[in-house]
Amino acid sequence: MKVGFIGLGTMGRPMAGHIIDGGHQLVVFDKVAPPSELAAKGATSCSSSREVAENADVVIVMVPNTPDVEAVLFAENGVAEGLSAGKIVIDMSSISPIATKEFAAKIVALGCDYLDAPVSGGEIGAKAGSLSIMVGGSPGSFDRIKPLLDLMGKNITLVGGVGDGQTAKVANQIIVALTIEAVGEALLFASKAGADPARVREALMGGFASSRILEVHGERMIKRTFDPGFRIDLHQKDLNLALEGARQLKMALPNTASCQQLFSVCAAQGGSTWDHSAMVRALELMANA
Ligand code: NAD
Repeated sequence: MKVGFIGLGTMGRPMAGHIIDGGHQLVVFDKVAPPSELAAKGATSCSSSREVAENADVVIVMVPNTPDVEAVLFAENGVAEGLSAGKIVIDMSSISPIATKEFAAKIVALGCDYLDAPVSGGEIGAKAGSLSIMVGGSPGSFDRIKPLLDLMGKNITLVGGVGDGQTAKVANQIIVALTIEAVGEALLFASKAGADPARVREALMGGFASSRILEVHGERMIKRTFDPGFRIDLHQKDLNLALEGARQLKMALPNTASCQQLFSVCAAQGGSTWDHSAMVRALELMANA
């Protein structure tokens, strides 16, 4: 397959590497990041998203936010200008489910297929090719692109129609934020009470309070290693999507809103680019710890 990849950042670069390692022809574009080791492996570097779409059957997008995806697809020299009927666009960024439906309608009007396929698993999962991938789209186009997704992920689920992959990802980010908050509160409580938080974490692992977040983020909190990982500004973007969706659905997400405020405390301390486990710093400020 001729595959195009747009967005070669923390996640996109290793994901694109798996596509080329899987034996596919690869064309790439990033508005800032150089193709470097991908070019060394044989990927062709393009000078625009349009050029990627002209030279690929399947175009994968992995950029930060909804306006970035909109720019990649529909700005001047964007993907839409380079598409012809029968091509497939897969957006693997984490963006608005509502905007996703609008983008998909415009791409489908060009005679192409559109799937949203955001991921969970972080940089480690991207490098290992073990991401969880949550897909929205038609079963037919899902079957066509599944071999490509298999190169990048392990737990690959067709959640439903277009936008449902993004909805699943927002749900994922709610759980992750609230669990980071719970682990932060618990370890801070233990520490203020005079117990060693490292020993407390160890004692809880394997019990009912155990989780990947207690394991990975709990360790980061204890060792004070807040280099991303997953940046606070990206998680704030995801919680905004949750809160914006909740407003439209006329429902409350009280603890999601509270986690968003805690991330804002970190951002006010200059921590927008810290790992999201640094939410514990906001709790520490409130506890005078
Ligand atoms: P990143 O900021 O490291 O990389 C994004 C890349 O997109 C950058 O190299 C940037 O130059 C490029 N880009 C932005 N706009 C562009 C445009 N118009 N044209 C071409 N290139 C453009 O971000 P990331 O960490 O790789 O995250 C990408 C997406 O994956 C985000 O939606 C994020 O929420 C999601 N995600 C990230 C992680 C993680 O751990 N980093 C985990 C799961 C999901």
